Amino acid sequence: MAYLHLFWPEGAVLPRMRALDIFHMDTGGCTGCGLELRAVSRALEAATAPIRFVSTPRQAALLLLTGSLGVDMAPVVEQAWQAMPGPRLLAIVGDCAVDGGLFTPNYAVLGGVGARAQASLSLPGCPPPPTMIVQALVSWCGEQADSRPHPA
Ligand code: SF4
Repeated sequence: MAYLHLFWPEGAVLPRMRALDIFHMDTGGCTGCGLELRAVSRALEAATAPIRFVSTPRQAALLLLTGSLGVDMAPVVEQAWQAMPGPRLLAIVGDCAVDGGLFTPNYAVLGGVGARAQASLSLPGCPPPPTMIVQALVSWCGEQADSRPHPA
């Protein structure tokens, strides 16, 4: 597999990875985390990494949420979750998604998804830099691969 060494120095040993399809939704916030994820998506695409962002939840194994959860977005997130084939996993990226961040609950904002649902991957930061997001995804993906039983 070819890497462009955008995030790792030449010669670095990369963790084992398996394919991961991610559907990203921005549920509120300032969209800063969403912009960082766009950079992540482009870098992963360029590196032909087995982690890719897909355009529909029907193809996704991981639902990745950024932003504080708006009241109007809650049913949309629920629908996306229901549309995913199993097994499905949840990741929350950015302070807003983890604990609400700058956006305190009010009539239009429910707050952080982290307080309402258990996420497999939780990454705080405002916003977390793309390097940190990639490293979290890759090492989490590697842990998932390592925890699978190996063929004898
Ligand atoms: S965590 Fe920060 S950068 Fe991300 S959506 Fe919230 S305010 Fe914006």
